[in-house]
Amino acid sequence: MRERLINFGAGPAMMPEAVLRRIREEAFDYCGSTVSVFELGHRTPEFEAILGGLRDRIRRLLAVPKDYDILFCQGGGRLQFAMVPMNLFGAGAIASYIVTGSWSRNAQREALRIGRVQTAFAGNGTHAPRPDEYECLPEAAYLYYCDNETVHGVEFRDPPKAPERVPLVADMSSNFLSRPVDVSRFGLIWACAQKNFGIAGLSVVIIRRDLLGLAAPNVPTLMNFSVYSRTGSTPNTPPIFAIYVAALMAEWIEAEGGLEEMNSRALARSSIIYSTLDELRDVYALPVEPESRSRMNVVFRLADEEATGEFLAGAARRGLINLAGHRSVGGIRASLYNSMPMKGAERLAEYLREYAGRTLARKRSSPAQSRGR
Ligand code: PMP
Repeated sequence: MRERLINFGAGPAMMPEAVLRRIREEAFDYCGSTVSVFELGHRTPEFEAILGGLRDRIRRLLAVPKDYDILFCQGGGRLQFAMVPMNLFGAGAIASYIVTGSWSRNAQREALRIGRVQTAFAGNGTHAPRPDEYECLPEAAYLYYCDNETVHGVEFRDPPKAPERVPLVADMSSNFLSRPVDVSRFGLIWACAQKNFGIAGLSVVIIRRDLLGLAAPNVPTLMNFSVYSRTGSTPNTPPIFAIYVAALMAEWIEAEGGLEEMNSRALARSSIIYSTLDELRDVYALPVEPESRSRMNVVFRLADEEATGEFLAGAARRGLINLAGHRSVGGIRASLYNSMPMKGAERLAEYLREYAGRTLARKRSSPAQSRGR
């Protein structure tokens, strides 16, 4: 097989080669059955073992307490922007949202279609709030935040604190299974799969059981978390393939050493890039405050922004692809999820140095020309 390109895309994202090979094999023959994994019926013992195995692995990896249920829903991440308020508004008349970037802002907008919303913090995409910077209503149905803002590259080091009796809800779409989490601090955690643990179309929801059953009677059946809980996440034909891939990814994460290991790899990958960027401040600009820098999405810009296209083309020629920032903010973004090998981060750091060396040399040799570009 040709050497694979290093894919820094923000999701769908890179997957481990070992997992891709296994999918290729099992596409023809699942566990010696001569039946393809795509053809498995969702009520077969084989599929039940896949789904149950995925649920058990997530419970083990995150040490999910017994009083939490683990659900699998279709519709990707954005559907959760609606499902969360539809299911949790029953606990109160208003919800509080911490806004740290585009994804929490989008979630808040969707919640406004369903109920009343208070802004606990309105950020500008550069940092996660310090404890004295946000205020959640004590009567809120829940306090919502996004643990890692994929577009802006802002990640919480520690979750925010909700007032007593207010359930904390986290969108962990872009950092799920990348570090240990104390689940007992949350009412609900959700994440879409296509970044750290699989492919698009599937979301996992970890919910404290006392928050089930709060949905109003007019909430559609397939939007109701209780229905997923009651049916073991098979209220209809579930996305078999997405669940199968997530199960392989969870198995891979466990075999590689679990969440402590994922975290130390994430820290190693991101710090080599941040430290290179920090060293080369004449060429690169970092908008996110150091204590909120994401381990998953390294967001930066060129001091000479007009050269962004040239930077990206040079990267692609070296096999480093999908480094463009999100279309809403521009700039450059390197996404470094669980499957990104250390060698990928090292090759990007080398390119950052090489590009900076060339840019600085050009500036020195013709300062007027480089300024006028
Ligand atoms: N939340 C976050 C933090 C995300 O990064 C994304 C996708 N990039 C979403 C929600 C939406 O996910 P989806 O595209 O599956 O709807």
